Amino acid sequence: MARRLDTHVHVYSPELIATWREVARVEPYFGRLASGKVHRWAEADDVLAAMEADGVDQSWICGFAFSDIGLCRAQNDYVIDAVARSEGRLQGLAVVPPLAPGAEAEIVRCREAGLIGVGEIFPQGQGVDLTDLRQTWRLVGACHEAGLFLLIHTAEPVGHDYPGKGDVGPREAAQFCANHPEAVVIFAHWGGGLWLYELMPEMARILRNAWYDTAATPFLYGAPVFSSALAAGVRNKILLGTDFPILGRHRYDAMLDAAGVDGEAREALEGGNGARLLRICRGEEER
Ligand SMILES: [Zn+2]
Repeated sequence: MARRLDTHVHVYSPELIATWREVARVEPYFGRLASGKVHRWAEADDVLAAMEADGVDQSWICGFAFSDIGLCRAQNDYVIDAVARSEGRLQGLAVVPPLAPGAEAEIVRCREAGLIGVGEIFPQGQGVDLTDLRQTWRLVGACHEAGLFLLIHTAEPVGHDYPGKGDVGPREAAQFCANHPEAVVIFAHWGGGLWLYELMPEMARILRNAWYDTAATPFLYGAPVFSSALAAGVRNKILLGTDFPILGRHRYDAMLDAAGVDGEAREALEGGNGARLLRICRGEEER
């Protein structure tokens, strides 16, 4: 049996959960998400318990990407510790405010502590313009140098609104890829639909370094989004991420079954693609 990964999981330290209302006063974007009606809290032990129940072999966990670097550092410390205690069941991402002094040093610190990526970055929530090279080059350079991938929140430019949706979608994500061919980047939530444009030959070239995760799919799309993406030829660029704790793995298993995704395609989405992404970050495989 192939390994089952979940590449998009949120965790919160017990201290943050206990003090979130005070934190929300100085971090309004966090406050909006944390008081949204689908929001849930989870500590690392909750992730491990759900993985046990759902048959998930490894989860990639991240803290909340605050605007304040001190709050980010505290979440990173929690993630580093949880990963170290997990016997390989958890891998971790670092959060940083991309424009803050000290962000690059924090990325290096987290890499040295064993984390594998940076994210989930919230372009709107953290006030960074994804299309502006002057705002992104330091972040991308630090990740590239450290061999880390980026996970960036993106959303659909159409459809219903929800807390945290934001105004950053396929257009901005595509410009980011054009600006940064060296980046290894996962766009969350299907890149807001960006994968569809890989059917345009020139966009397939520009998007060579783009990956897409499936986080929040049950809230956004019907099951055929999976078979549609496979038909569009992006099978090797889709990562199964749930957005736990707001959604559990069983919802995705049911959608994949309904979409008739099985065999090699299913293994690629559920684990093979994530493993390949890490080999690319380590320089062991060509992208
Ligand atoms: Zn997101």
